[in-house]
Amino acid sequence: MKYSALQIVKQALRGNKGWTPAWRKAEPKPAYDVIIIGGGGHGLATAYYLASVHGITNVAVIEKGYLGSGNIGRNTTIVRSNYRLTANTQFYEKSMELWRELSHDLNYNVMFSPRGVINLAHSPGQMDAYAERGNQMRLLGLKSELLDRDQVARANPGLDVSGSARFPIEGGLLQPDAGNARHDAVAWGYARGASALGVDIIENTEVTGFLKEGDKIVGVEATRNGAPIEIRSEKTGVAVAGATSKVMATAGITELPIESTVLQAFVSESIKPAIPNVITFGSGHLYVSQSDKGGLVFGGNIDYYNSYAQRGNLPVWEEVTAELIAMYPCFARVRLLRNWGGIMDMSLDGSPIIGPGPLPGMYLDAGWCYGGFKATPASGWCFAHTIANDKAHELNEAFTLERFEDGRSLDEKGAGPTAWYH
Ligand SMILES: Cc1cc2nc3c(=O)[nH]c(=O)nc-3n(C[C@H](O)[C@H](O)[C@H](O)COP(=O)(O)OP(=O)(O)OC[C@H]3O[C@@H](n4cnc5c(N)ncnc54)[C@H](O)[C@@H]3O)c2cc1C
Repeated sequence: MKYSALQIVKQALRGNKGWTPAWRKAEPKPAYDVIIIGGGGHGLATAYYLASVHGITNVAVIEKGYLGSGNIGRNTTIVRSNYRLTANTQFYEKSMELWRELSHDLNYNVMFSPRGVINLAHSPGQMDAYAERGNQMRLLGLKSELLDRDQVARANPGLDVSGSARFPIEGGLLQPDAGNARHDAVAWGYARGASALGVDIIENTEVTGFLKEGDKIVGVEATRNGAPIEIRSEKTGVAVAGATSKVMATAGITELPIESTVLQAFVSESIKPAIPNVITFGSGHLYVSQSDKGGLVFGGNIDYYNSYAQRGNLPVWEEVTAELIAMYPCFARVRLLRNWGGIMDMSLDGSPIIGPGPLPGMYLDAGWCYGGFKATPASGWCFAHTIANDKAHELNEAFTLERFEDGRSLDEKGAGPTAWYH
């Protein structure tokens, strides 16, 4: 069913009884051309581009829970491409290109809102670093503007830009065409688009192992409705974010440069429009924006130990809210409405892994750290290309797993091999 203003009128006249489900609830077939494990944003986007760009429609996406139950429905929705390293900047800018047209492409409103992202700077050294990053972005054709304190203050009247602020603001780096999108609409839109092209989306089915012929992966073992099943496929893509090390261990891959940790998100009660952009705090780690319903949506550091639990801990609440109040003292009495946690797949250099392997017949998409939501379109686009052609696209050829063996790490922040810092 095509969504349009006319459709809304037609359905309203029929008492809204004619809407059809956005995607089919598929039963697994014995075999597919491609299996994608993980019905998060990346898995669904991959399936969509396999079908829409490469004409490969005999595809199953296998999801252990319901669509949107992972990080795709848990993130703070920030979409940007303000990176420093060329490989990252070009990859994330491809994502921005896809974001701009995504609602039209999917015929589904993902509420992409390019409201501008400002990274605040709190010292001259930080301003220099942002000038370098902004120049690098401009050299690659992206928009960026270095703002002084007055420009930041004019754009965001609620920020404490006074000299007596806990961490006085010097200025900031603006990416004017970055912003937000509605996270779960992205999952639903890709699911709907993929399903319409023939992809089977199989929910509530957990992959528990791999079928192998020698070293080659030829399908998966899974549990569905409490019963074991097997599904065969020549090509199997793994896109399970925080569960990467668990799922890969069932294929015998027990050493990966990935750590799983919890990241929490926080949402306040609705207030009148107060933050026009997405703001990040440069003296600690905090990012905040305001949802269309009026809630402040914010997050900060990951919890500081490895975990597979989708819930976080109180010390991080304290740290993150203290940072918010340091920037915006005016929010001190706003009430927190809810929070949740998601399991992050933190790579050891802060950059992703998208490529064929590490076993024949297998393809891996992982290592998304804090930034995999914005990557969703480009990740799906590149992973689909990689699976269809058995080799990386030029946009993801730097994101190999082998770079960790060869010493060609893509350490965006120069933070060293500590997953926490990326
Ligand atoms: C609190 C929080 C805030 C964030 N904020 C941002 C942000 O502002 N901007 C940004 O760019 N990124 C952000 N991220 C990161 C981003 O959400 C993730 O990097 C990205 O969503 C990961 O890709 P995904 O959508 O495919 O993951 P997921 O949605 O987690 O998908 C993986 C899926 O695999 C499934 N799965 C796992 N094991 C199995 C199995 N054995 N069998 C079958 N299925 C399995 C899971 O159930 C899950 O649905 C944030 C993340 C969190 C948690």
